[in-house]
Amino acid sequence: MLVSAMEKAEILVEALPYIKEFYGKKVVIKYGGAAMTDCELKQKVMQDIVLMKFVGMHPVVVHGGGPEINQMLNRLNIESHFVGGLRVTSREIMEIVEMVLGGKVNKEIVSGITGAGGRAVGISGKDGNLIEAQAINQGEMGFVGEVTCINPQIIETVIENGYIPVIAPIGRGPNHESYNINADLAASAIAVAIKADKLVLLTDVPGLLKDPEDSESLISVLRLSEVDEYVQQGVIAGGMLPKVQCCMESVRGGVGRTHIIDGRLSHSILLEVFTDQGIGTMVVNG
Ligand code: ADP
Ligand code: MG
Repeated sequence: MLVSAMEKAEILVEALPYIKEFYGKKVVIKYGGAAMTDCELKQKVMQDIVLMKFVGMHPVVVHGGGPEINQMLNRLNIESHFVGGLRVTSREIMEIVEMVLGGKVNKEIVSGITGAGGRAVGISGKDGNLIEAQAINQGEMGFVGEVTCINPQIIETVIENGYIPVIAPIGRGPNHESYNINADLAASAIAVAIKADKLVLLTDVPGLLKDPEDSESLISVLRLSEVDEYVQQGVIAGGMLPKVQCCMESVRGGVGRTHIIDGRLSHSILLEVFTDQGIGTMVVNG
C-alpha cells in the first residue's frame, strides 16, 4: 500500500488529539504473550513505546515471561504446573523465575528499547522496595505472591530522569523472600499506585472472547457488573482470570482506561493509544 505524503500528514494530524490528551500522562503497558516471543513483533512494540515517550507520554513497562521461564525449566528438567492461570512456585522454581524475569527477560527489553532509540532502566519489584508481597492462599501455591504495598518512588525517579522504567514482577516478602507475582496483577497495582491514566495489557488473543475457540466473538466492552456472570459461565478462565481481575482493580482504583489488546497485531499499542479504532476489550466501570 502506497501512502502519499499528504496522507501521511493527515495520519499524523489525526493523532494530535491523542498526543495532547496523554501528554505528560503515565501509561502502564503489560508486555507479554506473543508480542514478547516473536522477534519482529518485539521490535514493533519497542518502537511504539519509544514513540510514546518522545511525544511526551510516560510509558511504564511491566513484563511477564512465562514462555521463557518454561524453556529454562525444561532445560533444567524441572516440572511445573498451573492452577487458575497461576504457576505453582516451589523455592527451586522461584530461583529460576527470578533469574529469568529479573535478568534475561528484563535486560532484553531494556536493550530492545535502546535499540529503538529510547532510554530504559530495568528493575525488579525488589529495587527501591517497589513491590512488597506476601504468599497467596496461605502458601498453597508456594512462592506465588500478591502485592501488599507498592512504593512507587523509584518509578517516579526513573521517569523524572527521562528513562522508561521496565519492571520484572518479583515482590519482596516480609522475611526477605522473593515472590512470583502475576505480571497482570503487578501491572494493575503499579498503575493504581502511580495514578496512571491508562493500562494496556498485551496478550496473544484478540481480547476477551465469548467463546475462546472463536476469535470473532470478541467482547469489545466489558462492564464490571458483567464479570461475575462471565466467570460463572467459564468465559473468563485460565490466563484471562488474572487479566480481568487486574482490569477491575485498576478501574476501581481510578486508572482512566483499561484495555486488553492483541499483541500479535503489528503496532497494536499505537493503534490503541493514537487512533479511534477500538481494538481488543475495554474494561469500564458500570
Ligand atoms: P499472557 O502472557 O498474555 O498473560 P495468558 O496465557 O496468561 O497470556 O492469558 C491469555 C490466555 O487466556 C489465552 O491465550 C487463552 O488461552 C486464555 N483464555 C481463557 N479464556 C479466554 C477467553 N474467554 N478469551 C480469550 N482468551 C481466553
Ligand atoms: Mg498471564
